[in-house]
Amino acid sequence: MKRTYRWSDFNLRLEVKDGILLKNGLTGAVVVVDAETEKSISDSITNGILEIGEERLREFADPDTAILVSSDSDEYVAWRKRLIFKRNEEAHIFTIHFLPTIQCQLRCDYCIQKGIDRGRGMEQGVLERSLVWAREYLEDHSEIDSFRFVLFGGEPLLQKKLMECSLNGFHELAREKELQFWTEIVTNGEFLDESAAGMLSEHEWRRVQVTLDGPKDVHDARRHGENGRPTFENIMRTVRMLVTTDYIRKVDIRISLDVENGDRIPELIRELAELGAQDRINLSIGLITPTFASPERVGLERVIAEKALAAWKVAKDCGFTIPEEFLTGPWCVAIAKHSVVLQPDGTLQKCFCTAGRKEFDFGSVFDPADGYLKDSRFEHWQRTDECIARKCKFLPFCGGGCIYSAMVEHGGPIGATKRFCQKTLLDRMNHGLLALTYG
Ligand code: SF4
Ligand code: SF4
Repeated sequence: MKRTYRWSDFNLRLEVKDGILLKNGLTGAVVVVDAETEKSISDSITNGILEIGEERLREFADPDTAILVSSDSDEYVAWRKRLIFKRNEEAHIFTIHFLPTIQCQLRCDYCIQKGIDRGRGMEQGVLERSLVWAREYLEDHSEIDSFRFVLFGGEPLLQKKLMECSLNGFHELAREKELQFWTEIVTNGEFLDESAAGMLSEHEWRRVQVTLDGPKDVHDARRHGENGRPTFENIMRTVRMLVTTDYIRKVDIRISLDVENGDRIPELIRELAELGAQDRINLSIGLITPTFASPERVGLERVIAEKALAAWKVAKDCGFTIPEEFLTGPWCVAIAKHSVVLQPDGTLQKCFCTAGRKEFDFGSVFDPADGYLKDSRFEHWQRTDECIARKCKFLPFCGGGCIYSAMVEHGGPIGATKRFCQKTLLDRMNHGLLALTYG
């Protein structure tokens, strides 16, 4: 039987100087065709006779490319089935976001942990119980072959001693279970000195993330300590130390961007470029969503996209690597099967943005490690029904968006069943990044 084809629903289309660029959001494949070829393929799809050579057809319709797909395929349903299968049947990484404390020496205006009871740091007894719990969990899940250990907070380096004990304990457990192990840390960067870097580098240290909000005056006005104590210079000292030593290969610098600071971000990027360490720095831009700050402050999606793209243009001109796409899903640690946020009192959550909020606890290391790390609020797969009904081409980039943001937007657990839709942002950012990369 003769197979007929159509353009994939997940293709993004952009006019570039050599013709038409098509990128498939699911496979990531990019092809450029001249306008005539594009038209002739479109015409022949309509006529049912595909007039492109066999070789070109193979290139476009290969499952790894999927620019053209079989005309009877339902890409949306296939996408969701594959996502759920991958999540449930192919999970092999155990991820702990480990919080030695949720205290922090910074007083950022927009902190998502503002207003929560930050309690005290983790006690040795909780760490010891956590190790027992993790061992039991690993024994119950022989499919796990890798262990990702992420130090998170608050500021994890406020509990340096406990942090060191946890690194020793969990690394040893991974060795004993013959798992591939690595460490990451998300820190405000103030206390990450050579002694801390040395300690981390003994534990397969793969990633460090610090945050900057703009050049010194902007950053210090937003990410300051008690009584407005400035922090920019301290963080830059850490960045300089990390890019001039060998404790870790690269430093991830996350730049928070909203309508207030967006126009000043290019200045920060130029200042970072002066370090001359573009090959040692990964830049990312964190767009603050309306659920993390007031809507007025965050601004309209298209305004934010323009500011972020202007910043990426400067980053590219300065020699930094820029991303080719902008994602708001479909995966995150809160959805992953063997992933958990382990809080200082031993309670467990799925999403690292909910730390300290009791209503998001779903278990504790003091309970037996039964089943898998399940909080049903993060398993509402049907939430993409509306995305599918609307045939949204951004589904592979988004998957219905952040579940926590949906819960905040819709005022509670009911939100977990709904989308958090940022389609305008996804549209502008993805076409803009494609143009910057290939234009
Ligand atoms: S639910 Fe949202 S905030 Fe939480 S980890 Fe996932 S993407 Fe991040
Ligand atoms: S939430 Fe919005 S942008 Fe995301 S896949 Fe659904 S319809 Fe598309």
